[in-house]
Amino acid sequence: MKYLYEFRESEKVKLIIKSIEKICKSKWTIMEVCGSQTHSILSAGIDELLPSNITLVHGPGCPVCVTPREVIDKAIALSKMKGTIVFTYGDMLRVPGSRESLFRAKADGAKVKMVYSPFEALEFAKANPDKKVVFFGIGFETTAPCNATVILKARGLNLKNFFVLIAQFRVPPALEAILNDPFNKVQGFLAPGHVCTVMGIEEYLPISEKYNVPIVVTGFESFDISQGILILVSMLERKEKGVKIQYKRSCKPEGNLRAKEVINKVFKIGDLKWRGIGVIKNGGWVLKEEFLDMDANNLLKNYSEEIEEKKEGCIAALILQGKKKPFDCLLFGKECTPLNPLGAPMVSSEGACAAYYKYKR
Ligand code: SF4
Repeated sequence: MKYLYEFRESEKVKLIIKSIEKICKSKWTIMEVCGSQTHSILSAGIDELLPSNITLVHGPGCPVCVTPREVIDKAIALSKMKGTIVFTYGDMLRVPGSRESLFRAKADGAKVKMVYSPFEALEFAKANPDKKVVFFGIGFETTAPCNATVILKARGLNLKNFFVLIAQFRVPPALEAILNDPFNKVQGFLAPGHVCTVMGIEEYLPISEKYNVPIVVTGFESFDISQGILILVSMLERKEKGVKIQYKRSCKPEGNLRAKEVINKVFKIGDLKWRGIGVIKNGGWVLKEEFLDMDANNLLKNYSEEIEEKKEGCIAALILQGKKKPFDCLLFGKECTPLNPLGAPMVSSEGACAAYYKYKR
């Protein structure tokens, strides 16, 4: 197949679903890790086409959803500082911090600009040496190469007014956190194809071995997802562990060596807090010592952190770990809607609650 539409043809998906029906004998709980996969599943109705003994649960692979409130609070505080401008991606704007969102702060006069690339922030910093420019960059392994590149570029230009507020998450330690949970029900994973396109499968092999779970690196179209489930179910039925790649048109076992090299120049692995899950050991990347002078936290000298405010009744944490689904939340579609989101999974276009609101309500 060559064109995108070919990966969305419903007849092909139906044929694969028939094959899944034929081979599936037992009950299986499968987690699709990435929020984009969740949206594809719901928009194509794959969850409803599958045999009833397969349960799909939705994973924590939505970067906006797992960014802690206190990081958003820091971005807001920076945007309110004299002479400082915060640049970030559009989907971060509406995510609630402890008291408000960047969008609300911007409406009240804070200096926030939406960008499609961190290089827009870099260009602004070059042209405005009197301003302190902060790029608020969040994401998984997919954004890390670009974020690392802009940091290297700023260092090469010797820019003194360019800073970064980074929340850079790593997927494999989150899978381990889910598998280590005594109440875990997940028996197999559809791993995110774009993350593995960057990183390869090397980090997933020991997880599969240690926890005896099959993992299939899967793409994002309905054909990819249904084929990924077919491969995973056949591995589960054969009690086979290991890592297989469904998304071969993009992902190589070794990943993108150039991208990994750039990441390793700027970041080192560190513990990181994931919203809803807590601190995950080695759960992210942090700046290496030689780039710490670009850390926007340095600008927050007199900043006192807010206590994280919990929204009564929001079960986002349980949804992000695959323990509950959005329909289990009593606030879903009532107090909590995309126009008035109470938790991050309803804000983000990749969030599971937003997907259920859009496709299943
Ligand atoms: S529907 Fe809203 S309140 Fe409920 S879990 Fe999702 S984000 Fe939280």
